[in-house]
Amino acid sequence: MPKFIFVTGGVLSGIGKGHTTASIAKLLQFRGYGVDLVKIDPYLNVDPGTLNPVEHGEPFITDQIFEFNPAPSFSYTTAEVDQDFGTYERFIGRAIHPRNNITSGQVYLSVILQERLGKFLGKTVQIIPHITDEIKRRLVEIAKAGKRERNKLDVIMVEIGGTVGDIEADPFLEAIRQFRLEHGSGNTLLVHVTLVPLLATVGEMKTKPTQHSVKQLLSRGLQPDIIIARSENSLTEESRRKIALYSNVRPEAVISNPDLKEIYELPLKFYEQGLDAFILQRLEMIAHPPTGMTDWQEVVNRFLHPTEHIRIAMPGKYVAMADTYVSIYESLRHAGAHLGAATTIEMVDAEQLEQSNDAKDQLIQYDGILLTPGFGTRGTEGMIRSAWIALEEDIPYLGICFGAQLLFVALCRYGLGMKKANSTEIDPKTPYPVVDLLPEQREIEEKGGTMRLAGHPIKVLPKTKLRTIYKKSKIRERFRHRYHLMWEPAKKAEKEGLIVSATDLSGKIINAIELTNRYWVVGTQFHPEYTSRPDQPNPLYLAFIDAILKRKHAIG
Ligand code: GLN
Repeated sequence: MPKFIFVTGGVLSGIGKGHTTASIAKLLQFRGYGVDLVKIDPYLNVDPGTLNPVEHGEPFITDQIFEFNPAPSFSYTTAEVDQDFGTYERFIGRAIHPRNNITSGQVYLSVILQERLGKFLGKTVQIIPHITDEIKRRLVEIAKAGKRERNKLDVIMVEIGGTVGDIEADPFLEAIRQFRLEHGSGNTLLVHVTLVPLLATVGEMKTKPTQHSVKQLLSRGLQPDIIIARSENSLTEESRRKIALYSNVRPEAVISNPDLKEIYELPLKFYEQGLDAFILQRLEMIAHPPTGMTDWQEVVNRFLHPTEHIRIAMPGKYVAMADTYVSIYESLRHAGAHLGAATTIEMVDAEQLEQSNDAKDQLIQYDGILLTPGFGTRGTEGMIRSAWIALEEDIPYLGICFGAQLLFVALCRYGLGMKKANSTEIDPKTPYPVVDLLPEQREIEEKGGTMRLAGHPIKVLPKTKLRTIYKKSKIRERFRHRYHLMWEPAKKAEKEGLIVSATDLSGKIINAIELTNRYWVVGTQFHPEYTSRPDQPNPLYLAFIDAILKRKHAIG
């Protein structure tokens, strides 16, 4: 059995518990250990696929598919997981299985379906022990599957979403309490991440919220082993001592997690404070000397010391929250840093572009345009317009999924004169349905987990930009869509310079397009952002930024 490190949060949500969890995993990797990461989301949705990305951030798409089969009468598949998995994968540099995202929805559904099957005949089905047993069973199942599939699995990190004190989180905390008791000390660890605010008027760090949230944990029978304190500046010795005293942990187990200029530096900040050494000692594991840390430091340095600066516009309907497109945002940063450039990404409100008289003037100020993934109709006219402006003005352009579909719509409308051409998702009555439902999607009505999801093999056609970029005839990237580009208009659009540069293996589904008569215009049905890492940018994002920089240098 691997060891388990549980990570809970206190005081506030959104203080970077995901980055903390991922950074600890990274440190254990540096020490030569095999790690896996689990996220528990206490909400009742079965998966985050149908959550509003503005409210909840993007769903992350995994390479693999999880077949959730709690009873013979019910089964579904998913590859849509919490956005924290993006952080995990970017830090540990490896794909994580979607079964590792446990939600209350899944847990309750399993127990209730089992009850109907008669598994608990004669018993009153209760949160304790039935829900908590199911939670523990899932954790053990993940450990077993991980052991089966990978030769090296030593530690599983389990992050619990939300904060201690949320009603939905209670069954999970109780399950952890039981799990720790059953598995014995030395095999599990509890890390609590809290906020230590700076009261500006008195210039003082306030530890009271931390004390309160630790008390809440204690009231659930959970004594944290490590406190990670998020704060603006590094913790003062005084605050560290106070937190240690009130939380009943050793001072060296109070770790400072200050605001950083570059988030990928966090594992190194933890290392400086001996966090990994402390964890290994408590888990009775050998402290091998760390390897790979200098390389990581070099990667961090690239982010910290760019030599030039580019600006990319992202016209879309969601402009409110950076997390909505966090994987794209990170991929652009990875590629930029690799090429010595800091990348500013500006969300441009597509609805406003729709009506604006100076949309062109607005967009030509940018070094590149990335048209985002998306669903529905709102803002689409503005997005189509942006795609056409990119073509007219020959601005480097990358269209992802919806962004590729709308590029195609723009070309059909304004290049081929197919007035009102559209995707049937936007206009079901369009005279030119140039983007339409995938054949297998026609019968599907349910919304949860029913898109074409996860990693699929892709055939990259010769003599294309894409082939030069990926240097392979067969690649694998991740998908999340119901619609696809139609072949007939794609053939017609050849005279406008369009070529299909990738398809699925059968050759039936168009997976990428590009324009031969423009400087750099590429649209992909797949999402390359889910495989980009800080130390290994995705080739397509890298090529996009490279093209932008070359053009910028040429213009001077
Ligand atoms: N709505 C489009 C589709 O379902 C695009 C999806 C996306 O951008 N991920 O095909």
